[in-house]
Amino acid sequence: APSITLEGLEKSFSRDVIALDGVDLTIRAGEFFTLLGPSGCGKTTLLRILAGLDTANKGVVRIGGHDVTEVPPHKRSVNTVFQSYALFPHLNVEDNIAFGLKMQGVEKDDRQRRVREMAEFIKLTPLLGRRIDQLSGGQRQRIALARALVCEPNVLLLDEPLSALDAGLRGQLQVELQRIQRRLGMTFVFVTHDQQEAMVMSDRIAVLNNGKIQHLGTPREIFERPANTFVARFMGHDNLFDITSREGDLLDTPLGRLTVDTRTHGDKVLIRPETIELGEDAETDANYFTAVVRESFYRGSYIEYRLDVGEVSLRALSSNQGQKLHKNGERVPISICPEDIVTVTDGE
Ligand code: ADP
Ligand code: MG
Repeated sequence: APSITLEGLEKSFSRDVIALDGVDLTIRAGEFFTLLGPSGCGKTTLLRILAGLDTANKGVVRIGGHDVTEVPPHKRSVNTVFQSYALFPHLNVEDNIAFGLKMQGVEKDDRQRRVREMAEFIKLTPLLGRRIDQLSGGQRQRIALARALVCEPNVLLLDEPLSALDAGLRGQLQVELQRIQRRLGMTFVFVTHDQQEAMVMSDRIAVLNNGKIQHLGTPREIFERPANTFVARFMGHDNLFDITSREGDLLDTPLGRLTVDTRTHGDKVLIRPETIELGEDAETDANYFTAVVRESFYRGSYIEYRLDVGEVSLRALSSNQGQKLHKNGERVPISICPEDIVTVTDGE
């Protein structure tokens, strides 16, 4: 599988609609790479430029080291799966999967063999004779995927292929897609607006906002050390506090004075709710506070608490390992380990 390099990509649709605002990016060969960001941030535009379906105003696209900026889509060895599966309703499953091969002029016997192999691989064999309108959303999405995979592209682009599916099926297909990618060793460029989906599936993620990459890193890096407050909030973090003054490892915040482990230079502190120790787990030696439980939510494998610490509200997650549940209005000690506190720069 080839690597992909984007250099200085710019794309605007009009004077005030700037879809890509200088994107530099290298996607490694054989990587499961995800573009993550809110609606309108430029994900589809980036994917379309990669596929050759759209052209950038500025910048270079390289696939496998070759400059393909001016190369038409069908000569790029890139295949795309879109959110709307665009299957042919009047054809059966087998003919739908075979469509791309037919377009490539692959002989009938060879075509049939490859379609059957792919159907076996993606567990669609019992459905080969069925019509598209007799199938569920999940089955249709697998067929769209099989249709792209059977052409053996070196690079597969996937634009929110799971967004239309319900949660259970989506989880299943997330795992399936990841397995397929690993087994075939293809380069996947996957687009989603869902941070959980991105984290579960990807080797690396680029978080996009306003046509710019905000953070490029592994799921763990992006979640635990977000590059700026936009990334932090987009990844679902809400315990972000201003730093009013600092003295070495001591930071003053609306929550109180915090001891942090490393000297960081961000503008806000981020406290991840799962790093807050509650009740009997709280340690008195560092960042020890008394909180009042305002609300609690039983979520099965963990408990979510909304706490008040003075004027500040704080979200905490406690894994459900048999501790006693704290009631609303109860005063509970909390503590945060200095190593768990990170600081984040103000972002766009
Ligand atoms: P995403 O896929 O992240 O939701 P898009 O790449 O589709 O975002 O869009 C990025 C921006 O470019 C948006 O502001 C969108 O409205 C605009 N845009 C996308 N395609 C077109 C188009 N064909 N004509 C005009 N504006 C467009
Ligand atoms: Mg889109």
